[in-house]
Amino acid sequence: MWAILAAAGRGERLGLDQPKAFAKLGEDPLLAEPLRRLDESDWIDRIVIVAPPGWEEPAILLAEELACSKVHSCVAGGETRTDSVRAGLAEVPGDAVVVLVHDAARPLLPEAVIERVLAPLADGWDGAVPGLAVSDTLKRVDADGRVAGTVERDGLYAVQTPQAFPPDVLRRALAGGADATDCSGLVEASGGRVKIVEGDPQLLKVTTADDLAKIASWL
Ligand code: C5P
Repeated sequence: MWAILAAAGRGERLGLDQPKAFAKLGEDPLLAEPLRRLDESDWIDRIVIVAPPGWEEPAILLAEELACSKVHSCVAGGETRTDSVRAGLAEVPGDAVVVLVHDAARPLLPEAVIERVLAPLADGWDGAVPGLAVSDTLKRVDADGRVAGTVERDGLYAVQTPQAFPPDVLRRALAGGADATDCSGLVEASGGRVKIVEGDPQLLKVTTADDLAKIASWL
């Protein structure tokens, strides 16, 4: 099984000089933690790192420092997450059985979640994603801050990564030219059946400096 580690985001909301993947999480760059975990996973054979343009070399050096043995290549990402995944998928060979796409911004990747997203593919699903049922009340809010309405919460999930797909399904979805904030969105738009499995609160995505501090405290 192949993994694509999407790490090409700029992370502007962190307000740092370097891209998010190279923000410090403890002693190491953020990228180190998800990379180490993918490398140690029993399910993963090969890893493609998608780095911010110009940061391929530091990403490869980091992989070498961590003695990662499964890194196949490191490519430059694109303007959007979808472009970055497309660049990563171009490295995955035609005979790969499964591709797992993971956000480097979600460093605490539990092995159990990798296992959970793989299971539905064996049952013929076109993809599987981890998610958490939403527990807060959801409001739609106008630009001026006025609450415009309450969104029915039943059946709503906050979706995370890693997301698993047969590579051909993801390739077809990307060929459609659509854009989405996750891979599942692309597969859904091309008519694919995607299954939700239980996510993990540990898979919190780093967006702000507070998120980084919270995740560092969990390590
Ligand atoms: O932007 P956001 O934080 O939602 O990004 C989720 C993941 O996608 C991050 O790990 C980020 O590095 C990656 N990404 C990417 N290329 C982009 C934008 C985001 O690889 N152009």
